[in-house]
Amino acid sequence: MDYLPLFFDLRRQWVLLVGGGTVALRKAWLLQKAGALIKLVAPQVNPELVRLVRESGGILLLEPYRADLLQDVVLVISATDQADINRQVSGDCRARNLPVNVVDSPELCSVIMPAIVDRSPLVIGISSGGEAPVLARIVRAQLESTIPAAYGRLAAFASRFRQAVKQRFTDGEQRRRFWEGALSGPVRELVFAGDTSAAEKHFLSQLNDDNATRTSGEVYLVGAGPGDPDLLTFKALRLMQQAEVVLYDRLVSEPIMDLVRRDAERIYVGKKRAEHALEQTEINQLLVDLALQGKRVLRLKGGDPFIFGRGGEEIELLAQHRIPFLVVPGITAASGCACYAGIPLTHRDFAQSVRFVTGHLKNDTCDLSWHELVSDDQTLVFYMGLAGLHHICQQLIAHGKRPTTPAALIERGTTLQQQVHVADLASLPDYVAQREIHAPTLLIIGGVVSLHEKLKWFSGAE
Ligand code: SAH
Repeated sequence: MDYLPLFFDLRRQWVLLVGGGTVALRKAWLLQKAGALIKLVAPQVNPELVRLVRESGGILLLEPYRADLLQDVVLVISATDQADINRQVSGDCRARNLPVNVVDSPELCSVIMPAIVDRSPLVIGISSGGEAPVLARIVRAQLESTIPAAYGRLAAFASRFRQAVKQRFTDGEQRRRFWEGALSGPVRELVFAGDTSAAEKHFLSQLNDDNATRTSGEVYLVGAGPGDPDLLTFKALRLMQQAEVVLYDRLVSEPIMDLVRRDAERIYVGKKRAEHALEQTEINQLLVDLALQGKRVLRLKGGDPFIFGRGGEEIELLAQHRIPFLVVPGITAASGCACYAGIPLTHRDFAQSVRFVTGHLKNDTCDLSWHELVSDDQTLVFYMGLAGLHHICQQLIAHGKRPTTPAALIERGTTLQQQVHVADLASLPDYVAQREIHAPTLLIIGGVVSLHEKLKWFSGAE
């Protein structure tokens, strides 16, 4: 290890910043965030930097750098583009044993600035020792995307109870186990959701519970998006890696299941059209039973759980049993398929509204309010419409929709096997009948479909 990472308490401490350009400005932002008092020296200073230094209670010196400015400062940062000044600042500081950082010149530094992920009070610094700063920034980007922004709130929440937990568990190992449970279960999710008072109630009841190191069961109803694993939300991914049991169905693609925690139990609950591994009521009950056994249960659903996903029905029973649950939205098939097929769902020239319609009704018919669906300025998206495709197109035409209205059937949207079949309302059923089609499919009808040729993804390979 070439450098020892340390975190510097700069609150109300003077720091000398040499330089008045945009690089100095970036450093000034950081110093201000850390509560430092900035002594800025440069013959010319960027106006934004002037404002920042003034607002943060610092001093502005519009003059060249001199060594006597090093008096009474605890840290020096040189951010000028003049190599001789940078070298002089570095030499002066080293002679006085003052920590010095010269931007982009590791050889002139006694301290270097890491790339930072800021979830204050949780702060992560990443450094490549100045060898490969871009690599450090890539790692930072990865961490930024996997550590929820609300982690800071969680850390602040935990710090409020530090003393109480210390008193309750004198044994360090027990204390660690308690914190692990508390910071990964419902308390964490409540803090993330911004409901601090509920989080506090839950936390205190866990703290005062004699079995406090045991966690109670809960259910996460999570939308997994339409198929491409890159379309998962961060929250979905986090809960997928946390759950002990996963209930999934056919719409959840294999690459997505690969992201579930390795040792989690997997339960397939159906459903292909009319071929259900488990009835809906059995699924609802299973969720309750598993949660009552104290398990963290993930119910993974294709798309969004509240769009033709029967998510509402699944959590009703949980609510009745007072089992904690969370619902996480997912990208619904309509937006996923539309984007990947280059068909904007609304467009000022074609559609002022969009309707999501189910092509499969509760009693196995498809008897819709057709007259509401025929106006020209809306996009229709039919979920579960393949079996009833012929009927849907026929009824729309019979109720006055133009037979030449563009229509697309998107097969296995957003996956590597995606196919887009484009025709019009009159001809789509026959067009589709002549081809082998794989579920799931989504039907999009309306003027926006005509944009597909123009807006479909261009790989640059042609
Ligand atoms: N909750 C899901 C919809 C469940 S209903 C969501 O929000 O997307 C199941 C229907 O969704 C399928 O019959 C099909 O019409 C549609 N669907 C889901 N994933 C799809 C995909 N990758 N490609 C095309 N259609 C899809």
